[in-house]
Amino acid sequence: MTNEIYFDHAATTPLDPRVRAAIEPYLDVVYGNPSSVYRLARTARAALDTARDKVAEVLGARSAEIVFTSGGTESDNAAIKGVAFSRPGSHIITTQIEHHAVLHSAQFIERLGYAVTYLPVDRHGTVDPEDVARAIRPETSLISVMHANNEIGTIQPIGEIARIARARKVLLHVDAVQSAGALNVDVDALGVDLLSISGHKLYGPKGSGLLYVRRGTVCWPFLHGGGQERGRRAGTENLAAIVGLAEALQLAQRERSERNGIARSLRDALIRGVRQVWPAAQLTGHPEHRLPNHASFVLPGVDGESLLLALDQRGIMASSGSACTSGSLEPSHVLLALGLPTDLCRGSLRLTVGHHNVAADVEQFLAVLPEVRDRVTGLVTESRLD
Ligand code: PLP
Repeated sequence: MTNEIYFDHAATTPLDPRVRAAIEPYLDVVYGNPSSVYRLARTARAALDTARDKVAEVLGARSAEIVFTSGGTESDNAAIKGVAFSRPGSHIITTQIEHHAVLHSAQFIERLGYAVTYLPVDRHGTVDPEDVARAIRPETSLISVMHANNEIGTIQPIGEIARIARARKVLLHVDAVQSAGALNVDVDALGVDLLSISGHKLYGPKGSGLLYVRRGTVCWPFLHGGGQERGRRAGTENLAAIVGLAEALQLAQRERSERNGIARSLRDALIRGVRQVWPAAQLTGHPEHRLPNHASFVLPGVDGESLLLALDQRGIMASSGSACTSGSLEPSHVLLALGLPTDLCRGSLRLTVGHHNVAADVEQFLAVLPEVRDRVTGLVTESRLD
């Protein structure tokens, strides 16, 4: 019996036991509504305030600039629609490789009459800051560029883009959902006005997230109702998720260099090993400016879904790109934007490691890969393998 190996940390991560312990009291014992007045509620309010302070410290932000949300999707929607709706008829700039939470929000406001520019990327998936500068118009209200891509791991030159945005007085939103566990997300160092983070990508609970909104930024609320989150996001706070997110983010910051060290060595062993076993495999994304835990490839003549199923039968959990697009037959918009031929885009593989992975996981994966390769490239029939 082989071990099950999880190589899909870009899709989601397991809950850290320390996060689970931090959350536990807020699932039952401290059930008060933070907006009520009695002691039980005040205990809940204190936990909410502490979580906000913790998150603000990690981001180098003020506590009042943190808006807790239900995750990355909500944060991205709130940023795009919140800024656009506050500036009717304005123009926004984004890229062709954003997560659908950004892209579909942009397409939605386009249908409402807003103008949107979708910037191209180079063959490594990097946005050219000069392209950003050229796309800015007098009526541009927002630039939204992701920090690191979920499918190919490429890290964008956010600092340079931020300098351009600041000089031209345009707001900058950054989707840091994939990067927040691994990279520095200090909002001043990055120079961002809005930043999205999701808890479940960094060993926190699913359904937790935040939107950082720099003081003075005009971003209309997306959910209306009570006055929670300083009127920026109505709804009784999901306190357990918020406490978990704060704990997870703080742990990620404290343990970042150790976690990244482990991830990098496993990632590099995966990249070397895949290239050896499968010389036709092409690494996608930037060879150096990529997330430390992220290895992604396209494999000529392979159907990505068949590859994932064959790996699954060997106990390996991997992905062909983002979880949201796997299962659909459409080739990934990210791989197409790299200029890869459509056929090649259908044969993608994403391996994202986490800090629980060990060298033996990589060895086990590489040991089954030749068999899986032969099967999915039609070199052997299924019956010979099973
Ligand atoms: N943005 C990026 C870059 C992502 O990778 C994801 C999830 O895969 C999201 C946004 C959406 O985050 P959530 O799953 O918390 O809604």
